[in-house]
Amino acid sequence: MSSTGAGETAGQASVSDTVARLRATYGTGRTKPLAWRLAQLKGLGALLRDNGPALERALWEDLHKSGAEAQYTEIGFTLAELGSVRKHLRRWLRPTRVPAPAALLPATARTVLEPLGVVAIIAPWNYPVQLTLAPAIGALAAGNAVVLKPSELAPATARVLGELVPRYLDRSAVAVVQGGVPETTELLAQKLDHIFYTGNGTVGRIVLEAAAKNLTPVTLELGGKSPTYVDESVDLDAAAARLVWGRFLNAGQTCIAPDYVLATSAVQAKLGPLVAKWIERYFGADPRQSPDFGRVINDRQFQRLTGLLGAGRLVAGGETDASQRYLAPTVLADVPRDAPVMQQEIFGPILPFVTVDGLDDAIDYINAHDKPLALYVFSEDAKTRRRFLTQTSSGALGFGIPLGHIGVHGLPFGGVGASGAGSYHGRRSLTTFSHEKAVLSKPLKPDTIQLVAPPYTPARERLI
Ligand code: NAD
Repeated sequence: MSSTGAGETAGQASVSDTVARLRATYGTGRTKPLAWRLAQLKGLGALLRDNGPALERALWEDLHKSGAEAQYTEIGFTLAELGSVRKHLRRWLRPTRVPAPAALLPATARTVLEPLGVVAIIAPWNYPVQLTLAPAIGALAAGNAVVLKPSELAPATARVLGELVPRYLDRSAVAVVQGGVPETTELLAQKLDHIFYTGNGTVGRIVLEAAAKNLTPVTLELGGKSPTYVDESVDLDAAAARLVWGRFLNAGQTCIAPDYVLATSAVQAKLGPLVAKWIERYFGADPRQSPDFGRVINDRQFQRLTGLLGAGRLVAGGETDASQRYLAPTVLADVPRDAPVMQQEIFGPILPFVTVDGLDDAIDYINAHDKPLALYVFSEDAKTRRRFLTQTSSGALGFGIPLGHIGVHGLPFGGVGASGAGSYHGRRSLTTFSHEKAVLSKPLKPDTIQLVAPPYTPARERLI
């Protein structure tokens, strides 16, 4: 455990005092050396390794998340991301030489990554450990002072993070701000050097407006409806198994979960029973009894989700228990395109099937809507895959697998258009929180600039 640096306990000071304190630390240069950065990453690793049970308990309390899921989607996931950044950081920070044009020679040109200053990370409730700490890996690796704002809607996890972060990280440069809308609003009013926001698009707009006042750069990790296309060329049983896994993980409260399925009526007729079979295989005949099936985060979301039921033909699920905020893994087929469940991101355990005539209709449907965070295609047909690759736009594209791309450190994770701006993971986490400074160095002699200095004729004779 490393607890370097003094400073008051974060969370008790006002937001503006906290940011001012971090800015003062940043101004001393304390966060810039590689040794400091590596020490913080080591501290973050220790935080995650030493406190698995406390974090798992908090995630269970907030989301009924099983220990196994807590490990592979939150704690272990963040540790893997951390390991990759720690391993490569020294190399990634090396200046990159680029060729200077002949007209400027002799000269050397290079880019250097420098930290931005004081950055804010504003996290949502659905993966409250991963989405608070994984961005922090990049922010610390880049040498910034960092304010973390966990979601108030996952209060147990927010509390544990608030206790642990000051114990494991440099308190003079890393702080946790707790609270909801008022505290986040106050944080957004501060002069910051980067805002990294994960959450919904409505608040994303608020973040952008606040950032505009100070010209603060922003990364927006937003959501939306991620489509899935399934055709008759695939092994439908295998596709159903993956769809059920991706949709019902964390009770469907995953930003990159398959939100709906586009398929012909014939495919839906075969896929429906297979999806129902895999739900039972994963969660048993009564998923309410399963330790591996989550709960809806709060009553407001529960009311919203139950209001989306009733469209199309019920293939599986549909049962609810308000006292537990339990909504069974639910599948609806032949859902009309104008049904409420198709007008908003579902973000819960409901999977609607929407009928399309075929490939053209599916692509047209996707392109008529906001660019999604992810798009999944289950087809063995190379031409079909190629058409999705070239004729649609999405944050990510998964052939044969939902969610998996998030675990590939070398792939950028982020949206496009309404699903977000900017990305992170791996080296991009470092560059997202850095300024790539252009550095050009040219000796004063020979003075080749005389070639382009006025008067422009006769230039050649003036070259020294
Ligand atoms: P949320 O309600 O926890 O909000 C996220 C953060 O915004 C919180 O820290 C909260 O305090 C703050 N906030 C809320 N209202 C605010 C306001 N009016 N002003 C200032 N700050 C405010 O989380 P959420 O938005 O419900 O999260 C779910 C959404 O996030 C979904 O749309 C999902 O797809 C998306 N999401 C995206 C990703 C991604 O990586 N792209 C990951 C997870 C979730």
